[in-house]
Amino acid sequence: MELYDPLIEKAERLFGSSVPKKFAYDPSRAWDDAGGNQLVMMREAAYELGGDNKPAVNYACVSSNNYVDKDEIWVYGRDLGEIKGSVPFARIVLVKVDSLKGEGEEDTEPVYRAIQDIDFVKYHVYPKGYMVRSSSDSHREQVRVSKEAVRKGISFEQVGNLYISQYKKDPNVLAVRVIFVTADDADYAEMKKDAKMIRDITRTLSKILEGMATDCGSCSLKEICDEVEGLRELHFGKESKEFDL
Ligand code: SF4
Repeated sequence: MELYDPLIEKAERLFGSSVPKKFAYDPSRAWDDAGGNQLVMMREAAYELGGDNKPAVNYACVSSNNYVDKDEIWVYGRDLGEIKGSVPFARIVLVKVDSLKGEGEEDTEPVYRAIQDIDFVKYHVYPKGYMVRSSSDSHREQVRVSKEAVRKGISFEQVGNLYISQYKKDPNVLAVRVIFVTADDADYAEMKKDAKMIRDITRTLSKILEGMATDCGSCSLKEICDEVEGLRELHFGKESKEFDL
């Protein structure tokens, strides 16, 4: 069962026509973490990723299949040192996880918890001079970057290394690709739709966990279960004893 695989497979087509710069994970090159929430005032800001109402999308997808085989940072478009004003922005995270065992409704819990833990990582990364503002309702992740951080040479490679070091604290995580996109020709609208779909899948898992009714005909989640292969099997624990994300 691969709930998010169709979204992972299409993701690369959305990032624009440029060839991405790729960086291997190197924790010694991680940007400094401020250790907690920080405030970058407008007068201290060099620019905003997703500022001036430009797109600013974020989502994370998990799979036990081999889409991601090593820890890497990919950058499509301008890097942080090359940006002069507000730009469209996306940060997409693809995570390879170990298979999670389960054989019925009661075993939805480890699957759901693993996804939640991975998603919550974004609330525990505080790159210094890189103030993140997230909205889970609109799937936005807007970032205000300070002049001082730019002066000190902040780059997506360093910020990505910091994110990956945090993801790798989760024992379910085998490999992570953090993708930063600022390319003008990327399809941010489609990325936003996918972010919504991912949230809907995760919410459906949550509802299943709550022990909701099992009549698909009258269930408010029927539309998402019709669209996403594997959710119905996960609810009713059919056929397989092992649920692969
Ligand atoms: S539509 Fe059916 S499978 Fe999906 S959550 Fe509702 S009851 Fe479960």
